Amino acid sequence: MNINISKLISEKTESIDINLEYDLKASNLLYDYNIVQASPISLSGEIHKENEKIFIDASFSGEIVFRCSRCLKEFEKNISGDIEFDIQVTEDKDNNDNEYLNGDYLDLSVILEEALAFSLPMKVLCSEECEGLCPRCGQDLNINDCDCDLETIDPRLEKLKDFFSNNEEV
Ligand SMILES: [Zn+2]
Ligand SMILES: [Zn+2]
Repeated sequence: MNINISKLISEKTESIDINLEYDLKASNLLYDYNIVQASPISLSGEIHKENEKIFIDASFSGEIVFRCSRCLKEFEKNISGDIEFDIQVTEDKDNNDNEYLNGDYLDLSVILEEALAFSLPMKVLCSEECEGLCPRCGQDLNINDCDCDLETIDPRLEKLKDFFSNNEEV
């Protein structure tokens, strides 16, 4: 999603409209956020320049299918948000090289991915109350309980017990 902003930098135009669709297929976000499938993320807004800065004002939205990190069920969520971003630019395009700019070109995908990562949930859960799967038999505990005795097998819970009893002594 490279946009040529040379006309903006040389002030031959006042603003550039953004009306793009971004495909997440090649994005690292897929792995970081258990994304199974995503519609193209639509991005619309504009870019303008004031003094030595360009400003990106845009909003994005799309539908994403995630896999719950506890029960592994797929669920769909609408993702949307706003982008307000500015970047320092100079007339000398050779100096406009950073992670967002490559000479005359602005890479909106970097900016959109950062905004998306910010709007995505820290923990990918179908619901805050998701009970997850039984670590022993794999039963989806949201649907049915199982008969496994988890108290005695989950070493993480054992550690937690120690932690609490240690703290009580202090
Ligand atoms: Zn779940
Ligand atoms: Zn079980």
